[in-house]
Amino acid sequence: MLHTLIVGGGLIGTATAWRLAQRGHRVTVVAGDRSRAASQVAAGMLAPVTESTFTETPLMALNLASLERWDAFATELAEAGGRDPGLHRHPTVSVAATPDDAARLRDLARWLADQGQDCRPLTSRELRTTEPLLGPAVRSGLLVERDWSCDNRRLWLALQAAAERAGVRTVAGSVTAVEHDGDRVTGVRTDGGELLPADRVVLASGAWAGGHELPFELPVRPVKGQILRLAAGDLPRLSTTVRAFSQGFEVYLVPRSDGEVVVGATVEELGFDERVTAGGVYELLRDARRVVPVSAEYELTECRVGWRPGTPDNAPVLGPSPLEGLELAVGMHRNGVLLTPLVAELVARSVAGDGLDPLARPFTLARFAG
Ligand SMILES: Cc1cc2nc3c(=O)[nH]c(=O)nc-3n(C[C@H](O)[C@H](O)[C@H](O)COP(=O)(O)OP(=O)(O)OC[C@H]3O[C@@H](n4cnc5c(N)ncnc54)[C@H](O)[C@@H]3O)c2cc1C
Repeated sequence: MLHTLIVGGGLIGTATAWRLAQRGHRVTVVAGDRSRAASQVAAGMLAPVTESTFTETPLMALNLASLERWDAFATELAEAGGRDPGLHRHPTVSVAATPDDAARLRDLARWLADQGQDCRPLTSRELRTTEPLLGPAVRSGLLVERDWSCDNRRLWLALQAAAERAGVRTVAGSVTAVEHDGDRVTGVRTDGGELLPADRVVLASGAWAGGHELPFELPVRPVKGQILRLAAGDLPRLSTTVRAFSQGFEVYLVPRSDGEVVVGATVEELGFDERVTAGGVYELLRDARRVVPVSAEYELTECRVGWRPGTPDNAPVLGPSPLEGLELAVGMHRNGVLLTPLVAELVARSVAGDGLDPLARPFTLARFAG
């Protein structure tokens, strides 16, 4: 039986471990520090349409392919893990607060229409019927029915349960070195000094992936995001995810089924800076209130920092590496929750020797060569 070792127990490492165990591999996850994982802080939008930008057409195709898998994935996972993976099938409205913001939204709508994406412009009245909590500043918007969301914390617990039931072994601690005999990976060494031999190693270490000592360069960097959690309590609750252009800034509010609302997020190139700043929190709350005024009455329950695993083209790095037996599942950047079902499937397939799926081919490390 092949022994596969996974470096990193975030959403990507855990989902890949589960898929490999289902394929009959012996799987060990060296989990790292789960409290610092992006998978813990993320907002959980499954938003291939509203998250897309003009320069990221190949990534959009990958994101859409993952969204297509979500329904079946959530159903299978709920059964396998015995826990609700937190999928919410409510739509997203993308809205604008000022005439300049509205112009930006129109550009986005035109581009999405060019890409054949389903988004419907809404009148002011239609917007309020769809999301009654929008404030008076909001005049225009787009409805995207299939941009859903998922409570990533529930998802992660469900994946951990499914992986455990499938026989995945999880060990605490971190990997300090990927061991190899020149061309081929042989295992990993942990911070406890232990040498864990393996036939295959999957790197799923999120924003930390660029820091391993490897015989090749892996261009992954941390992109800091500050993010807040509010509790609606007895106050009126959002029924859709709201994404807004607001006086040149961007903010989103993602509702959970228990009345929690996730408000995010800053985008900062500051390495592993851990600070929650007054300015970051102020701007998020200011923009959230402009778009959804009642949010100012909600209880502020959490302010966190997380690090997106960024790459030069904002797309993941998947599949084989120059070191035989070392497979890559890194660089999910802003879309790691959305990409969890698809990336786990693609990477498990590659690790198992079934070759690289055509969907993954544009996203290998080779694209950065030279
Ligand atoms: C503020 C914010 C909001 C986001 N919102 C969304 C969203 O709405 N939708 C979406 O799809 N995505 C979102 N993302 C992105 C998403 O969170 C990430 O892409 C995804 O969680 C990456 O998962 P991962 O498993 O690759 O990395 P992580 O979740 O970061 O997990 C990596 C794990 O590897 C461990 N590790 C690191 N080094 C080692 C080592 N040497 N040995 C062992 N373990 C190690 C770490 O401790 C960590 O636990 C957001 C991210 C942030 C920061």
